[in-house]
Parts: sequence; C-alpha cells; structure tokens
Amino acid sequence: MTRHSDSAGAVLRAVLDHGPVPRSSVARATRLSAASISGVAASLLDRELIREAPEAAGPPGIGRPHVPLDINPEAVAVVGAHIAVPHATVALLDLRGQVIAQHRTPHDGRDPASVLASLAERIRTLREKRGKRRILGVGVATGGWVDAVTGTVVEHPALGWRDVPVGATLTAETGLPVRVDSNSRALLRAEQLFGAVAGRARQSAVHLFVGNVVDVAFATGGVVHQGPRSAAGAVAHLSVEGCAERCSCGRTGCLQAAVSEQTLVCRGGATDLLSMVAAAQNGDARALALFEERARLVGRAAALLLDLFDPEVLVVAEAGANRIPACLEVLRAEVAAWSTAGADVPEVVRATSFPATVLAVAGGAVALDQVYARPLS
Ligand SMILES: [Zn+2]
Repeated sequence: MTRHSDSAGAVLRAVLDHGPVPRSSVARATRLSAASISGVAASLLDRELIREAPEAAGPPGIGRPHVPLDINPEAVAVVGAHIAVPHATVALLDLRGQVIAQHRTPHDGRDPASVLASLAERIRTLREKRGKRRILGVGVATGGWVDAVTGTVVEHPALGWRDVPVGATLTAETGLPVRVDSNSRALLRAEQLFGAVAGRARQSAVHLFVGNVVDVAFATGGVVHQGPRSAAGAVAHLSVEGCAERCSCGRTGCLQAAVSEQTLVCRGGATDLLSMVAAAQNGDARALALFEERARLVGRAAALLLDLFDPEVLVVAEAGANRIPACLEVLRAEVAAWSTAGADVPEVVRATSFPATVLAVAGGAVALDQVYARPLS
C-alpha cells in the first residue's frame, strides 16, 4: 500500500464526516499538507468518489482550495448481500451507506451451491438495472464463524454450512471483488462510518446482533477486532436460565436457541418476524410480551458484554428493541439491573442506527469498509 493510498482513505473519511468541506479544512482534519490534499482530491474526483459541491461555479481543478468537496452519492455504488437462515437480501448502497434498492428472497434450498447461485444471479440483475452507476465491489455479511481474510464461512450451523468459499465463488460468478464478514463485525463498521454516534463508536464499541443467529464484535481505536482465526464474537452458546429449546450445538440453555427469530416466531404462532413486530406495535399483548421476554434475555447478555469491555457504546441490533420503544426500555433496564460497571445505560446502550435496513447495511458495510480504507485500489 502506498502512502498516497493511505492518505486517500483519510481524506475520503474526512469528506464523509465533514462534507461539504473545503480542502483547507480537510487538511486540518487529516493533518496532511495542502499539496497532498490537492493530489489526493484530484485522484478521488477523477474516480468520481467525491465531487465539488454544486454551488461552486466554474471549471473543476486542483488550484481551488476553498471550493467545498463532498461525497459523490450518484456515480458509484456497492452491492450489499446478507445471507440469513430463511432468506437472502441483495441491496445497492451509495457511498454514504444509504440503501438505494433492496430485495429479500426466501432460499430455494439452503445448500451453499443453490444459495450462492441465486445470489450471483440477483447481483447480476441488480447491476443491469442500475447500469449508470459503477459498482466498486460486493460485501457479504452472514452469521456463524466467518473468516474475513479468506472470504470463507468456516461454520454456520443454523444453515448447515462448513468451509464454504463464499468470496471466491461469488467473485467467479460476478467478476466483482467480494468481501465477506460476520453480521456484528460488519454492522460495527457501519456504525463507525455512518452511525448516529459514529465518533464515539470509533473510540471503543461493542456490537450485539440478534437474529436467527447471535454474534458479537468489539472495536477499539476505530479497529474492529478479527482475532487470529477470525473467530472473535461467538456468544451463541452463552448459557441462559430457563430455556428449553434445543440449540444447533445439541445442548439446551444456549442464548441463541432462546432468542432466535425461529424460536420467537414459533412461540408467537406467527408466519414471520416482521408480522410479529407489526402485531406488537399494534398492541397485541402476547406478541409484545414475547418481545419483552427476548429483550430481557438480550439485556442480560448485553450487561455481561458491558462489564467485560466497558465500551464507549454498546449497539444492539435486535428487531424488538430496534422498532418497539418499550422493548428498548426493557433491555436497558435489564442491563442496568445486571451490569456492575456503573455505565450511564441509556447513553451507552443503543439500538442500531439502521433499524429498517440492517441486513442490507451489514452487507454493504463489508464492501464500503474497503472503499474507505483504500479508495484508490
Ligand atoms: Zn448451543
């Protein structure tokens, strides 16, 4: 990696944070020289990752230090894909992490070959429909144990996958660069780039994802920890009291079995999670009680994580807490009751910044992370 490319990431992130912003302010924010900023900005303009703010009249050029720079949300995009247990989501996101389009389709079969073939087909369709944008790459997020370095799903028991080369397969099928990561690591990166409290999340943060799978990520100094085996964040089998559901590991009493969407939907007699969220929002007492019970269990896990890491922020992506204010209150109350770290719970424990688009953003963030790290490569 060249120094120019390092600097380009810093400049692009500064423009994301502060844009529209003059080059002189980017220089102060990044502590780079005016000459470096001019060179890097020219390269980023050339690739259409940034643009000069519309109010600036006249021909573009490098000798105009006061013309504000901004992220260009229209010329390029990334594809975000998310593989859940019952379905897959394919989305298009701009450089601000905004979802331009997203489609969710149930799996035809859960074997890797059919899921990945269907994903590749949908990525090709999305590209054809959005031909005017240049696609920079594909990001894939999923649960289980994901090796981000090799782009492999090492183990995803709920899907029954083992050593599936997701990155290599989709690259071969689509011709695009593909990166793969776990739900929580992807969403933590999204919080750091685009989240409601991005600045604090860059200091230190923990992310807890609760869907059909449960996983965790933590970050300090802006860097999401991967671990030497890419295995960090496995909390699926944390023991919880009073859970009779059998887990994919064969035991009972595991957090993931107690709080998974499948368990919740089954207990609620619903067809899917979103209809259950809607029922709870419309005052269905039984649905609300099930979400609150889930929030209590998730709250206890969150309390443990808070005490373990003492992060600046702890972000929870869980459908109830994200969409039903009463559930977030229950979750926070449970954290306050069980944590001994003395944190200001409402300030530290937060719902995801992306409640309506969490799966699309998870996938997209895996690709956008790379764009913001090395925008010129
Ligand atoms: Zn288990």
